Amino acid sequence: MSDPGNTTPTNFIRQTIDRDLANGKNDGRVATRFPPEPNGYLHIGHARAICLNFGIAEDYDGTCNLRFDDTNPEKEETEYAESITRDVEWLGYTWTELRYASDYFERLFQYAIELINRGKAYVDSQTGDTIRETRGTLTEPGIDSPCRGRPVEENLDLFRRMRAGEFEDGALVLRAKIDMASPNINMRDPILYRIRHARHWRTGDDWCIYPMYDYTQCISDAIEGVTHSLCTLEFEDHRPLYDWVLDNIDIPCHPQQIEFGRLNLDYTLMSKRLLNRLVKEKHVNGWDDPRLPTLSGLRRRGYTPTAIRDFCERAGITKSQGVVEMSMLENSIREDLDHTAPRAMAVLRPIKLVINNYPQDASELLTAQNHPKRPDMGTREIPFSNTLYVDREDFLEDPPKKFYRLSPGREVRLRYAYYVTCTEVIKDDDGEIVEIHCDYDPETRGGSSPDGRKVRGTIHWVSAAHAVDAEVRLYDRLFTVPAPTQNELSSQINSLSLLVLQGCKLEPYLGQPAAQPYQFERQGYFCTDPDSSKGSLVFNRTVTLRDSWSKKN
Ligand code: ATP
Ligand code: MG
Repeated sequence: MSDPGNTTPTNFIRQTIDRDLANGKNDGRVATRFPPEPNGYLHIGHARAICLNFGIAEDYDGTCNLRFDDTNPEKEETEYAESITRDVEWLGYTWTELRYASDYFERLFQYAIELINRGKAYVDSQTGDTIRETRGTLTEPGIDSPCRGRPVEENLDLFRRMRAGEFEDGALVLRAKIDMASPNINMRDPILYRIRHARHWRTGDDWCIYPMYDYTQCISDAIEGVTHSLCTLEFEDHRPLYDWVLDNIDIPCHPQQIEFGRLNLDYTLMSKRLLNRLVKEKHVNGWDDPRLPTLSGLRRRGYTPTAIRDFCERAGITKSQGVVEMSMLENSIREDLDHTAPRAMAVLRPIKLVINNYPQDASELLTAQNHPKRPDMGTREIPFSNTLYVDREDFLEDPPKKFYRLSPGREVRLRYAYYVTCTEVIKDDDGEIVEIHCDYDPETRGGSSPDGRKVRGTIHWVSAAHAVDAEVRLYDRLFTVPAPTQNELSSQINSLSLLVLQGCKLEPYLGQPAAQPYQFERQGYFCTDPDSSKGSLVFNRTVTLRDSWSKKN
């Protein structure tokens, strides 16, 4: 695992900042921000942007604000905003200030008046369709609006009346007056304000006109004194507009917008809008479904902030949009949990194993290590008796050559316990195996034989009388295809992405819901699901022990 303490990975954004500092730009200040729209829950892609912005602020002794970009009242909610602050904090970051674009509505309005006064903005009465149709194409210039020459006084009057609520949604818009022939379509008199008679989650009914993203973002950054405004690559073509707005109003700060490639992961989706669809259409059980790449889903699945930050660092910051493999994310959590998670034994698909020559009604305590590589984590005692549960998958009546686990006549080691040899298999009327009978060798207590006899297989077990029951949820990729497509989402969902096992048998020390993740030996890493209650335990498998998935495909 990388050590953030002494090796700070560099990237082209940090290089730009270094250069700016060397040139004495911004009086040596570094100020960034993370500006989510509260229209959904954050996903692992956002974590990339969070680590970047907050990480830079930390390393350069700068500042980083959390700013809600809340300018689309219909799509935004308090619930989303609360989930976002929770997720940022969970990742371990502290913002310098919490801001809201909606706090700037009045100032944004005044800057718009300033643009109108300077002849740099006008009110357009054309319909939305007409405005779209007259924007031109990549090869053809747009057509000037007949409203482009509207006198300043008339623009001011109309814009104020727009604010006063005199017009219906869509009746008028405020547009920047730039250049309808610009090769950059974003510069063809972009819309700055539109009318929306919608209740805003913070400002209520105070406003019925709302500023557009491009207009809001640059001014909000400037108001907050941001030095480096980091955003994803799709805004590269918007940068001239970002600069144009700031150049045409009287504002002392001019942040530098720098774009980086979005993080994409295979077999999942990284868009709040599409994640919202999965939730609304009930393909998953809420935004924190452990199969989702949302931070709340990953948290519930058992991911740690350490693993996510490590992953973001490994994925790196580049100028291009690549797709990162899910297995890379899984490796990050595996490495973290391998180090921190105590070991335990859990039988997910139990079958009874009866030891014929072990005294009935007797039991003993055997000592197990909590972590094979970390003696500091200590040991625990596990009860052993004549009736155990072992995993169905650890027994085969007719084993193939390389199967070293239990089968008739075969001797295996019960982890931390004894060698046992299978003597008999009991079946029900349908031929289903219901019980395995064994003899044990009392000389092998602790799991080794004094005569040096070796066994090839070691299997895990729990004592039937002492075991606690649990439900265990196993997860797989949410989609069957690496790059799910919007129009076929429902048919691309992996129907086996959630497998619920009931009646799993766990060793007794797992009997309490714990905040802590465990490694269930040979099965993977697991955490307690919040659905657990006293007497009814639910565990989620965070990740398997090895990357079996890449091999399978
Ligand atoms: P979505 O499509 O998921 O809603 P968005 O970019 O519209 O994404 P915002 O809430 O506007 O979501 O994003 C806040 C910040 O997070 C932005 O600066 C954005 O660039 C960044 N961000 C969003 N998605 C990713 C991603 N996949 N990789 C890196 N940064 C991202
Ligand atoms: Mg957005």
